[in-house]
Amino acid sequence: MISQKLQDAINNQINKELFSEYYYLSMASYFSSKGLDGFENFFLIQVQEERFHAMKMYHFLNERGGRVILSKIDPPKTEFESSLEVFQLAYEHEQYVTKLINELMDIAITENDHAAKSFLNWFVDEQVEEEASMENIVNKLTMINGEGNGLLMLNKELAARTFTPSSE
Ligand code: MG
Repeated sequence: MISQKLQDAINNQINKELFSEYYYLSMASYFSSKGLDGFENFFLIQVQEERFHAMKMYHFLNERGGRVILSKIDPPKTEFESSLEVFQLAYEHEQYVTKLINELMDIAITENDHAAKSFLNWFVDEQVEEEASMENIVNKLTMINGEGNGLLMLNKELAARTFTPSSE
């Protein structure tokens, strides 16, 4: 049985993962409106990843005898200045999520919940990838500096991204 404190913290994180899904869907929609289908695809895959994160926590909480309590999801930002701004915000957001996962791990440690620590390790590792993937594109977009050909090449590269939950 999971402690109430950890249960509340995981429920809070489920809300943050669902907000991440919403935030990235808003970014996908921005790129759709710009005709950049590869960038849109990148964020639509990210949307699936965030739902996957939320569902992983949902199942864990239920398995541990906890109860998933859903709460209101904040509205995401809807207007963006540029492709670079979108990825900078996504990168900042992933750094914020890393901080939240670390805080969640801190609670699992103080509650001495080994199962939760083992479970959360997956998220600790996942955040390394999430930050690196966003930072990589921020760097590429900075190099491209708004130049059309570079943007179209990156758009083509991002069109190839697929969702592979088994390798998550
Ligand atoms: Mg996530």
